[in-house]
Amino acid sequence: MQRTLITKAAGAENEKAIVLFSGGQDSATCLAWALRRYKSVETAGFDYGQRHSVELECRKAFLQKLRELDAEFNAKLGPDHMIDMSSLGQISDCALTKDKAIAFEKNGVPNTFVPARNLLFFTYAAAVAYRRGASVLVGGMCETDYSGYADCRDNTLKSLQVSLSLGLDEPIVIETPLMRLDKAQTWELAEALGGKELVELIRRETHTCYLGVRDELHDWGYGCGKCPACRLRARGWSAYKNQA
Ligand code: ZN
Repeated sequence: MQRTLITKAAGAENEKAIVLFSGGQDSATCLAWALRRYKSVETAGFDYGQRHSVELECRKAFLQKLRELDAEFNAKLGPDHMIDMSSLGQISDCALTKDKAIAFEKNGVPNTFVPARNLLFFTYAAAVAYRRGASVLVGGMCETDYSGYADCRDNTLKSLQVSLSLGLDEPIVIETPLMRLDKAQTWELAEALGGKELVELIRRETHTCYLGVRDELHDWGYGCGKCPACRLRARGWSAYKNQA
């Protein structure tokens, strides 16, 4: 399955892609995936008033080290577009943007859900793509581990792809290479794309923890080790290691 994922699609080598890059494990893996697949790749990041800006701070260091890791990555990686979406933080009331404890809402969705976040991210990225002559948007959304977020679902994003293509009157493709992978398979994919060196770079230089903790390096990376994002990352890492 990993082999299918890194097989180049016909025509992809002539296309430019915009990757939604947050500084976390999933979007970092998607970035490497896109760099192997497309002619050129640019990144988009969103500042929406996250309680912890650690992820955003990790982005720059990761991009620089990714360039140093691999000549193809360096040659294909274009500019980074940082987009101010502080209004999203103002209008949403969730544990990622407000000082409140992480919990599950009555509808079963964790309160780390930022309503409509991914719809807005892709729509803004599509505006960047239109200006930059890109036809592909890449995001690290995944149904396997987190089906609670409705805007991560495959159907949501397929529907958005149609809306964006109609609304721009240009063909826009949304690619989500991690949609059917679990976290262990995401590490495997990173290894297939850039070897142990890329796995190590993602382990050390990306950030996933909801609480923004970055003072202790665990075998799976930095984080508090207790929040849902850390637990998911730790579980995926140990599954990846145990099958290696
Ligand atoms: Zn954490």
